[in-house]
Amino acid sequence: MNRPELLSQLDDTSEKWDVVIVGGGATGLGIAVDAASRGYRTVLLEQADFAEGTSSKSTKLIHGGVRYLRSGEVSLVRESLRERGHLLRNAPNLVKPLSFVVPAYRWYEQFLYGSGLTLYDLLAGDLGVGATEHLSSPETLSRISNLREEGLYGSTFYWDGQFDDARLAIAMAKTAVAAGACVLNHVKVSRLTKSGDKITGLVAQDQIDGGEYTISGKVVINATGAFSDSIRRLDDPDVSAVIAPSQGIHIVLDQKFLGGQTGVMIPKTDDGRVLFAIPWYNRMLLGTTDTGGVPVELNPKPLEAEIDYLIDHAGRYLSEKPRHDDIKATFAGLRPLVKPSGDLGSTSKLSRSHSIFVSESGLLTVGGGKWTTYRQMAEDAVDRAADLAELKQSACVTHHLRLDDALPGGSGAALDAELPYSMADAEVTVREEMAMTLTDVMSRRLRATFLDEAATLKVAPAVAKMMATELGRDDQWTADQLEALKVLAPS
Ligand SMILES: Cc1cc2nc3c(=O)[nH]c(=O)nc-3n(C[C@H](O)[C@H](O)[C@H](O)COP(=O)(O)OP(=O)(O)OC[C@H]3O[C@@H](n4cnc5c(N)ncnc54)[C@H](O)[C@@H]3O)c2cc1C
Repeated sequence: MNRPELLSQLDDTSEKWDVVIVGGGATGLGIAVDAASRGYRTVLLEQADFAEGTSSKSTKLIHGGVRYLRSGEVSLVRESLRERGHLLRNAPNLVKPLSFVVPAYRWYEQFLYGSGLTLYDLLAGDLGVGATEHLSSPETLSRISNLREEGLYGSTFYWDGQFDDARLAIAMAKTAVAAGACVLNHVKVSRLTKSGDKITGLVAQDQIDGGEYTISGKVVINATGAFSDSIRRLDDPDVSAVIAPSQGIHIVLDQKFLGGQTGVMIPKTDDGRVLFAIPWYNRMLLGTTDTGGVPVELNPKPLEAEIDYLIDHAGRYLSEKPRHDDIKATFAGLRPLVKPSGDLGSTSKLSRSHSIFVSESGLLTVGGGKWTTYRQMAEDAVDRAADLAELKQSACVTHHLRLDDALPGGSGAALDAELPYSMADAEVTVREEMAMTLTDVMSRRLRATFLDEAATLKVAPAVAKMMATELGRDDQWTADQLEALKVLAPS
């Protein structure tokens, strides 16, 4: 992907874009892949980096969502399991099967979870990953050696999917560009343009070099997740909010706290939440929380109370208990949950299925959803957009569309013993993947800040220097980049 070349496409105002997308997370990039692969002239603008919002901060599971069975959302589970099957086939380098155990510390739990997960397998049908089994206590401990042994009756063993969220976003950006889309990071939409009451396009600013662009389109799609209401207010300042953001955080620990390559799912903690401990790039991710009433920010910070909750709950299920100073990294994201009409209640009870709203001026907003279901969300959104803009009918082709999910080369010496990346890997991201800032490289093209904040800060000066040479930037730029990284990875 060549950013200057893509940016220059915005200068050509002779022809309207068919589809203009605001937001470059899972939702917007999914729509760009869908629209471009149907042959629609498509442009996507992301104010920061691809996936810099919630889409790089998920639990990294491509899953049906076992807990939605408990809340009776069977159709959401079925849809998610179908999409899991598509993703395992369409992005096999980035989406992999992952086994889980659900430990049983009460005599009836193995039966309860066993029946629920057998139903989960049945709902997956032909797209299932592997069969659910009962494991005895010793069999469970042979998979998760650090699980608390005292009181363990056994477990339910099942399969789901795991992925690298920010890397999948880049794979989608590359796939969209290969299909003819113009996809840009660091371009912020500030205004919608109208003719009479109808939206005709938008105005956006390049955050890297400062250029302003006026873009006309047949339809504008708001795919800005937790920010959806701010774009809806550019259309109508008095519109009421439809998004109820809910913060979820993760802490990252040494993999010894898991002691295996199988994840652990606690379907109901004492206070009724779901807890995951999963292996990821030789670390253990532990999450998540569900904190409502938070402000909408691109990079929200974990609250001390959320970190305490995760450390405390991990200690209840693990033999060697993690402490605060074992934490290697933390990250927080905002779920873009759609408010039901009427009383909101707790955000953990809000549905994770998606909604599409069309305003009177024709702004199409896609809200809610999950990473797992991005393809279906995109298909629904583009169907609706094509009707609205009276685009030439063209069927969705993404069910079997292979995504360009090659990983950085892995050649050369590691930047640091704690990080699985070399300087050559970092260089490729600047030359080929539109990484424009140090955090683009260290947080999303490579996942360094998510794996080990201290190791990232150690190697950052060398990476910033390489970037300054590649991008023709000066010493002040390098110093600013290092400062910005320290804010994100403070340890
Ligand atoms: C803690 C947590 C764990 C989760 N775990 C999972 C999981 O394991 N599996 C799963 O399937 N789902 C999971 N989800 C849900 C999933 O991550 C989200 O549903 C999904 O990432 C939302 O994507 P999005 O594109 O709608 O939003 P975002 O990723 O937030 O993207 C919106 C983008 O819009 C951009 N934007 C905003 N304003 C403008 C503007 N003016 N101009 C241009 N761009 C703009 C933002 O910068 C942002 O990048 C999780 C969510 C959370 C919070």
